[in-house]
Amino acid sequence: MQFDSKPLSKLAHYDDLTLLPNRILFNEILNKGISQAKRHNKILAILVIDIDFLKESHVALGKEVLDKVIKDTSQRLTASLRTEDILARLEGDQFIVLLNDIAKAKFASSVAEKLLHAFADPIKADSQEFFIKPSIGISVYPNDGHSLEDLLKNADAALFKAKQAGGNIYQFYGKEIESEAREYIQLETSLRKAIKNNELALYYQPKTHLKNGNITGVEALMRWEHPELGIIQPGKFIPIAEDSGMIMEIGEWALRTACRDNKHWQDEGYEHFTVAVNISAKQFYHPEITQVIEKVLKETGLNPQYLELELPESTVMDNIESATNILRELKSTGIQLSIDHFGIGNTSISHLKQFPVSTVKIDKSFIKGVPNNPDDVAITNALIGLVHNLGLEAVAEGVETGEQVQYLVSQHCDIVQGYFLSLPLPADKIVLQFKKLMDKVLI
Ligand code: C2E
Ligand code: CA
Repeated sequence: MQFDSKPLSKLAHYDDLTLLPNRILFNEILNKGISQAKRHNKILAILVIDIDFLKESHVALGKEVLDKVIKDTSQRLTASLRTEDILARLEGDQFIVLLNDIAKAKFASSVAEKLLHAFADPIKADSQEFFIKPSIGISVYPNDGHSLEDLLKNADAALFKAKQAGGNIYQFYGKEIESEAREYIQLETSLRKAIKNNELALYYQPKTHLKNGNITGVEALMRWEHPELGIIQPGKFIPIAEDSGMIMEIGEWALRTACRDNKHWQDEGYEHFTVAVNISAKQFYHPEITQVIEKVLKETGLNPQYLELELPESTVMDNIESATNILRELKSTGIQLSIDHFGIGNTSISHLKQFPVSTVKIDKSFIKGVPNNPDDVAITNALIGLVHNLGLEAVAEGVETGEQVQYLVSQHCDIVQGYFLSLPLPADKIVLQFKKLMDKVLI
């Protein structure tokens, strides 16, 4: 008799009840994941989930009820994960998740929160309601182990602690990640309320033209005025907003506030200049980004030419074809576009040429070494030359000293921005700065 090997291998690799991968297949996937993570320096997390249902007191419920609870559990877990995450059933009432390639170990806590939240409502089976209180143990590659055995063992140890604490919680194996994760989740939770509670603010930093000393624009830099923790810098909360999907809402708030403030300055009689808003990768590649910009411009009445978007070099170089299309669509609304953090990524000159941008901001890490560090000087000169050859304007960011300004003038850099001219200031203070800057002789 001939056997068809496919159904057999399917049987050996998948759980009959939930149709999820079983432990054998999960281990194969995890092993592959670890090799890839080693090769590409990535972070992985595994989450062992125990719903603590198949215990003696439940045996009398009968197989049908037990199966229904396990099936519902697998569906709730699946619905809380992204398609690239791997969910498997280990055995009994234990499941396991692999998060391939997470940016930071602590981000696994958001997933664990979602998984716990999926059981807020009871599972119904045979006209009864069961409240499930899952426990989750998390281990992270490379922090908690470099092999499948170590990662599984340590996730189990963390699970044990979570169960001992009474369940309905998650626990990391490593203490350091555990405390980072708690801080992260607290910030994420309070960030959700920040817009509503009026805790976000835009600070503005002027950009000045070196030819005539005129202000050409201001860059809007977000701050979070947290009621207990004080001012939180964007480096700390923008990644949380990106990771948790809040960036579109927060980004739209920033666009609206920046356009409204600029329109207000124009109505007050200040020189017309652009307001530049930073756009992160997730916003840029969001299918509705152009509609959001158009809506905000319409609502605030700002002429599109006075709004600029700063797009990190890494964002637009990540996926050149679709970036070019998005840039063209954005440009068609009449706004200005500029490439941010230029010089630190892998820019292809031919692509830069086809992007509809008008300015390029040279990353402050190079400006820092000007004029004393020969490497930074050589790179800065080359970048300014390149930008000019493409017919674009060069902005030097992070300019802190008069010496730097002098050097940049000698290299025909167009625009400067940095602490030398002004710190980023809230909207009500920046207007005083405008006046001071108009009177300031740069060199
Ligand atoms: P960025 O776009 O590179 O912004 C410039 C950063 O350099 C700002 O940091 C600014 O305060 C700082 N800076 C300005 N002048 C000087 C100087 O002379 N020396 C030095 N060493 N630093 C200077 P900040 O405000 O902490 O912002 C950090 C990053 O957060 C920004 O980097 C930007 O990528 C991001 N960000 C800020 N606001 C927003 C926003 O509304 N949306 C998004 N998506 N990202 C934002
Ligand atoms: Ca910027």
